[in-house]
Amino acid sequence: PRLWDVKKVGTTCPHCGVGCQYNLIVKDDEIIGTEALEGPSNRGMLCVKGRYGSFEFVKHPDRIKYPLIKRNGEFQRASWDEALDLIAAKILQHKKESGPDAIAGFSCSRSTNEDNYVFQKMMRAAIGTNNVDNCARLCHGPSVVGLATTLGSGAMTNSIADIMEAPEVIFLIGSNTTEAHPVIGIQIRQAVLRGAKLIVADPRAIDLMDYTYMHMQIRPGTNVAFANGIMNVIISNGLEDQDYIAGRTEGYEELKDLVKEYTPEKVAQICGIDKEMLIEAALMYAKADRAPIIYCLGVTEHSTGTEGVMSMSNMALLVGKLGKYGCGVNPLRGQNNVQGACDMGCLPGDFPGYQKTSNPDNVSKFEKAWGCTLSTTQGLRSTEVFPAILEDRIKALYIFGEDPAATDPDSNHIRKALEKLDFLVVQELFMTETAKYADVILPGASYAQKEGTFTNTERRVQRVRKAVELEGEMRLDSDVFCDVMTRIGYPAHFDSAADIMREVASVTPSFAGVSHERLDGGESLQWPCTSSTDKGTCILHMDEFTRGRGLFKAIEFKEPDELPDAEYPLTMITGRMLYHYNNASMTGRTEGIVQISNESYVEINAQDAEKMNIRDGEKVKICSRRGEVITSARIGNVVSPNEVFMTFHFADGNVNEITNSVTDELSGIPEYKVCAVKIEKA
Ligand code: SF4
Repeated sequence: PRLWDVKKVGTTCPHCGVGCQYNLIVKDDEIIGTEALEGPSNRGMLCVKGRYGSFEFVKHPDRIKYPLIKRNGEFQRASWDEALDLIAAKILQHKKESGPDAIAGFSCSRSTNEDNYVFQKMMRAAIGTNNVDNCARLCHGPSVVGLATTLGSGAMTNSIADIMEAPEVIFLIGSNTTEAHPVIGIQIRQAVLRGAKLIVADPRAIDLMDYTYMHMQIRPGTNVAFANGIMNVIISNGLEDQDYIAGRTEGYEELKDLVKEYTPEKVAQICGIDKEMLIEAALMYAKADRAPIIYCLGVTEHSTGTEGVMSMSNMALLVGKLGKYGCGVNPLRGQNNVQGACDMGCLPGDFPGYQKTSNPDNVSKFEKAWGCTLSTTQGLRSTEVFPAILEDRIKALYIFGEDPAATDPDSNHIRKALEKLDFLVVQELFMTETAKYADVILPGASYAQKEGTFTNTERRVQRVRKAVELEGEMRLDSDVFCDVMTRIGYPAHFDSAADIMREVASVTPSFAGVSHERLDGGESLQWPCTSSTDKGTCILHMDEFTRGRGLFKAIEFKEPDELPDAEYPLTMITGRMLYHYNNASMTGRTEGIVQISNESYVEINAQDAEKMNIRDGEKVKICSRRGEVITSARIGNVVSPNEVFMTFHFADGNVNEITNSVTDELSGIPEYKVCAVKIEKA
């Protein structure tokens, strides 16, 4: 195309929490490419998903373009009026028969802040329940709960730019950064080339191995013991920051007593690592001035996920590395707007901005702002909704842009629950495994067809801009929610996404200074941003912690729920890969990506493969107590002996047929990262 025939629309990548900025290049209402921008988190870089995987799906022929109603087991095209009338009638019926808490909603961590705000308002103000959640429950729920408990804010403490500028040590725990957050992975490599020492604690030999000063290949599910061991060494060597501990924290004595028991010898044995490495890592971390802890789902997706997160903040508090440039505790959020979906109140116990629904003052405030009576009953987490369906406590479910039949653990029990529901609405871009169970399917609008904002992993609110028109009978998602609200007796309307953000700012102190006008004027705002003159917050907890004092939590190590045994002798880990995004409904519709990567596989250690007589590329059957999948073997030394790894993106050999649905009591996250399996030739 000639330059003057195209328009460029500056927006935010929809594929992970890094929040890379780029232009969509548009010709004749078609997106024909992308062009990286110098965003604060990507500095002119993009990964393969941002560069090639973020536009073909927007106008893909598979997009759902009009409402569908299931009649006699078949989906039939319906008008918006028919579909919305049916949804409203079913919601009102169940509200009347069983009360509002018989209805639940899952919001979309891929969609904008504005859509998420309106979705939770629909659930709370119009339907009257706190049963609203988002897929943070499946990834960083423990970060939200854990860091809110110990520090007061459940979010990344520092910014990508400040931790990557001049770190001396990078302490990377449970994160395969180059695959899951590729542009941060590149920045870690660059920091290493400038002299930073990278310490990795991860069960797999991840791609960053060539840049790693030290790799401790810890046994899956042993993060709490590992952190206790690190702290034992720091305290034994007198390297704890006593002034900081005395001036800014509480709970130290209890922690000190507990970690005494976690000697390097004991921890090395629990974690399956070298004792000397543990000692060296602890000394390096404690002595460095600028040493961020960066972690991801290897810490959170455990039955002790919240305790794992609190262990991260324990380590940083011990050496005074919170509220400080180049340090902090930095969870890398997975989905592009999973941070924002939480910030906007798509959580069962939180109004927008983490204002607790259990606080009567908050309830009164939102009742006044929204002109309604609100429920004070604690809502259900998404992982509690499926058992509640099976127990007949939930009758109707509204799912906006999530696919639990593919992405939740132990798919079999999810399918049973979806089948049992009296009424299921799915609002989606494509026909998904979950949508197949719906009574009504509504077409969703993609990120390139709407205005709004995403909040990236470092709490930065960034603009999403409309590049192309909606097709068929697609409508803006927040308009659809407003229509549902109006039809069930709570009239709702917003003029624009900017108008929604104005309402968010009016009820959410941490977003009070955020507006589309400021973002469009070139400002880059990280929450908390409390007024129109506040420039936002790059580093949390500088003067004091959000909760006042930083809280040490003394935590005993507990083994994962399901350990290998004679029948199921291998430990299976799951994880993300570079080319795909979650259930691959978007990246799986990009021709170039599909040519490179389009099927599941299992990584098996070479020693184990030899014992089992399995060859590279051979089809194998992996069985757990919950089910089985068939996939291809990939033999090597990425995983340790007795451990295997599968990605979770593909419908062929969907790993969630076999994962364990046991959850962490504190946050409700399932233990995706550890389950016991056996492997046979297929
Ligand atoms: Fe950036 Fe993540 Fe998008 Fe890749 S997927 S371009 S790292 S935001």
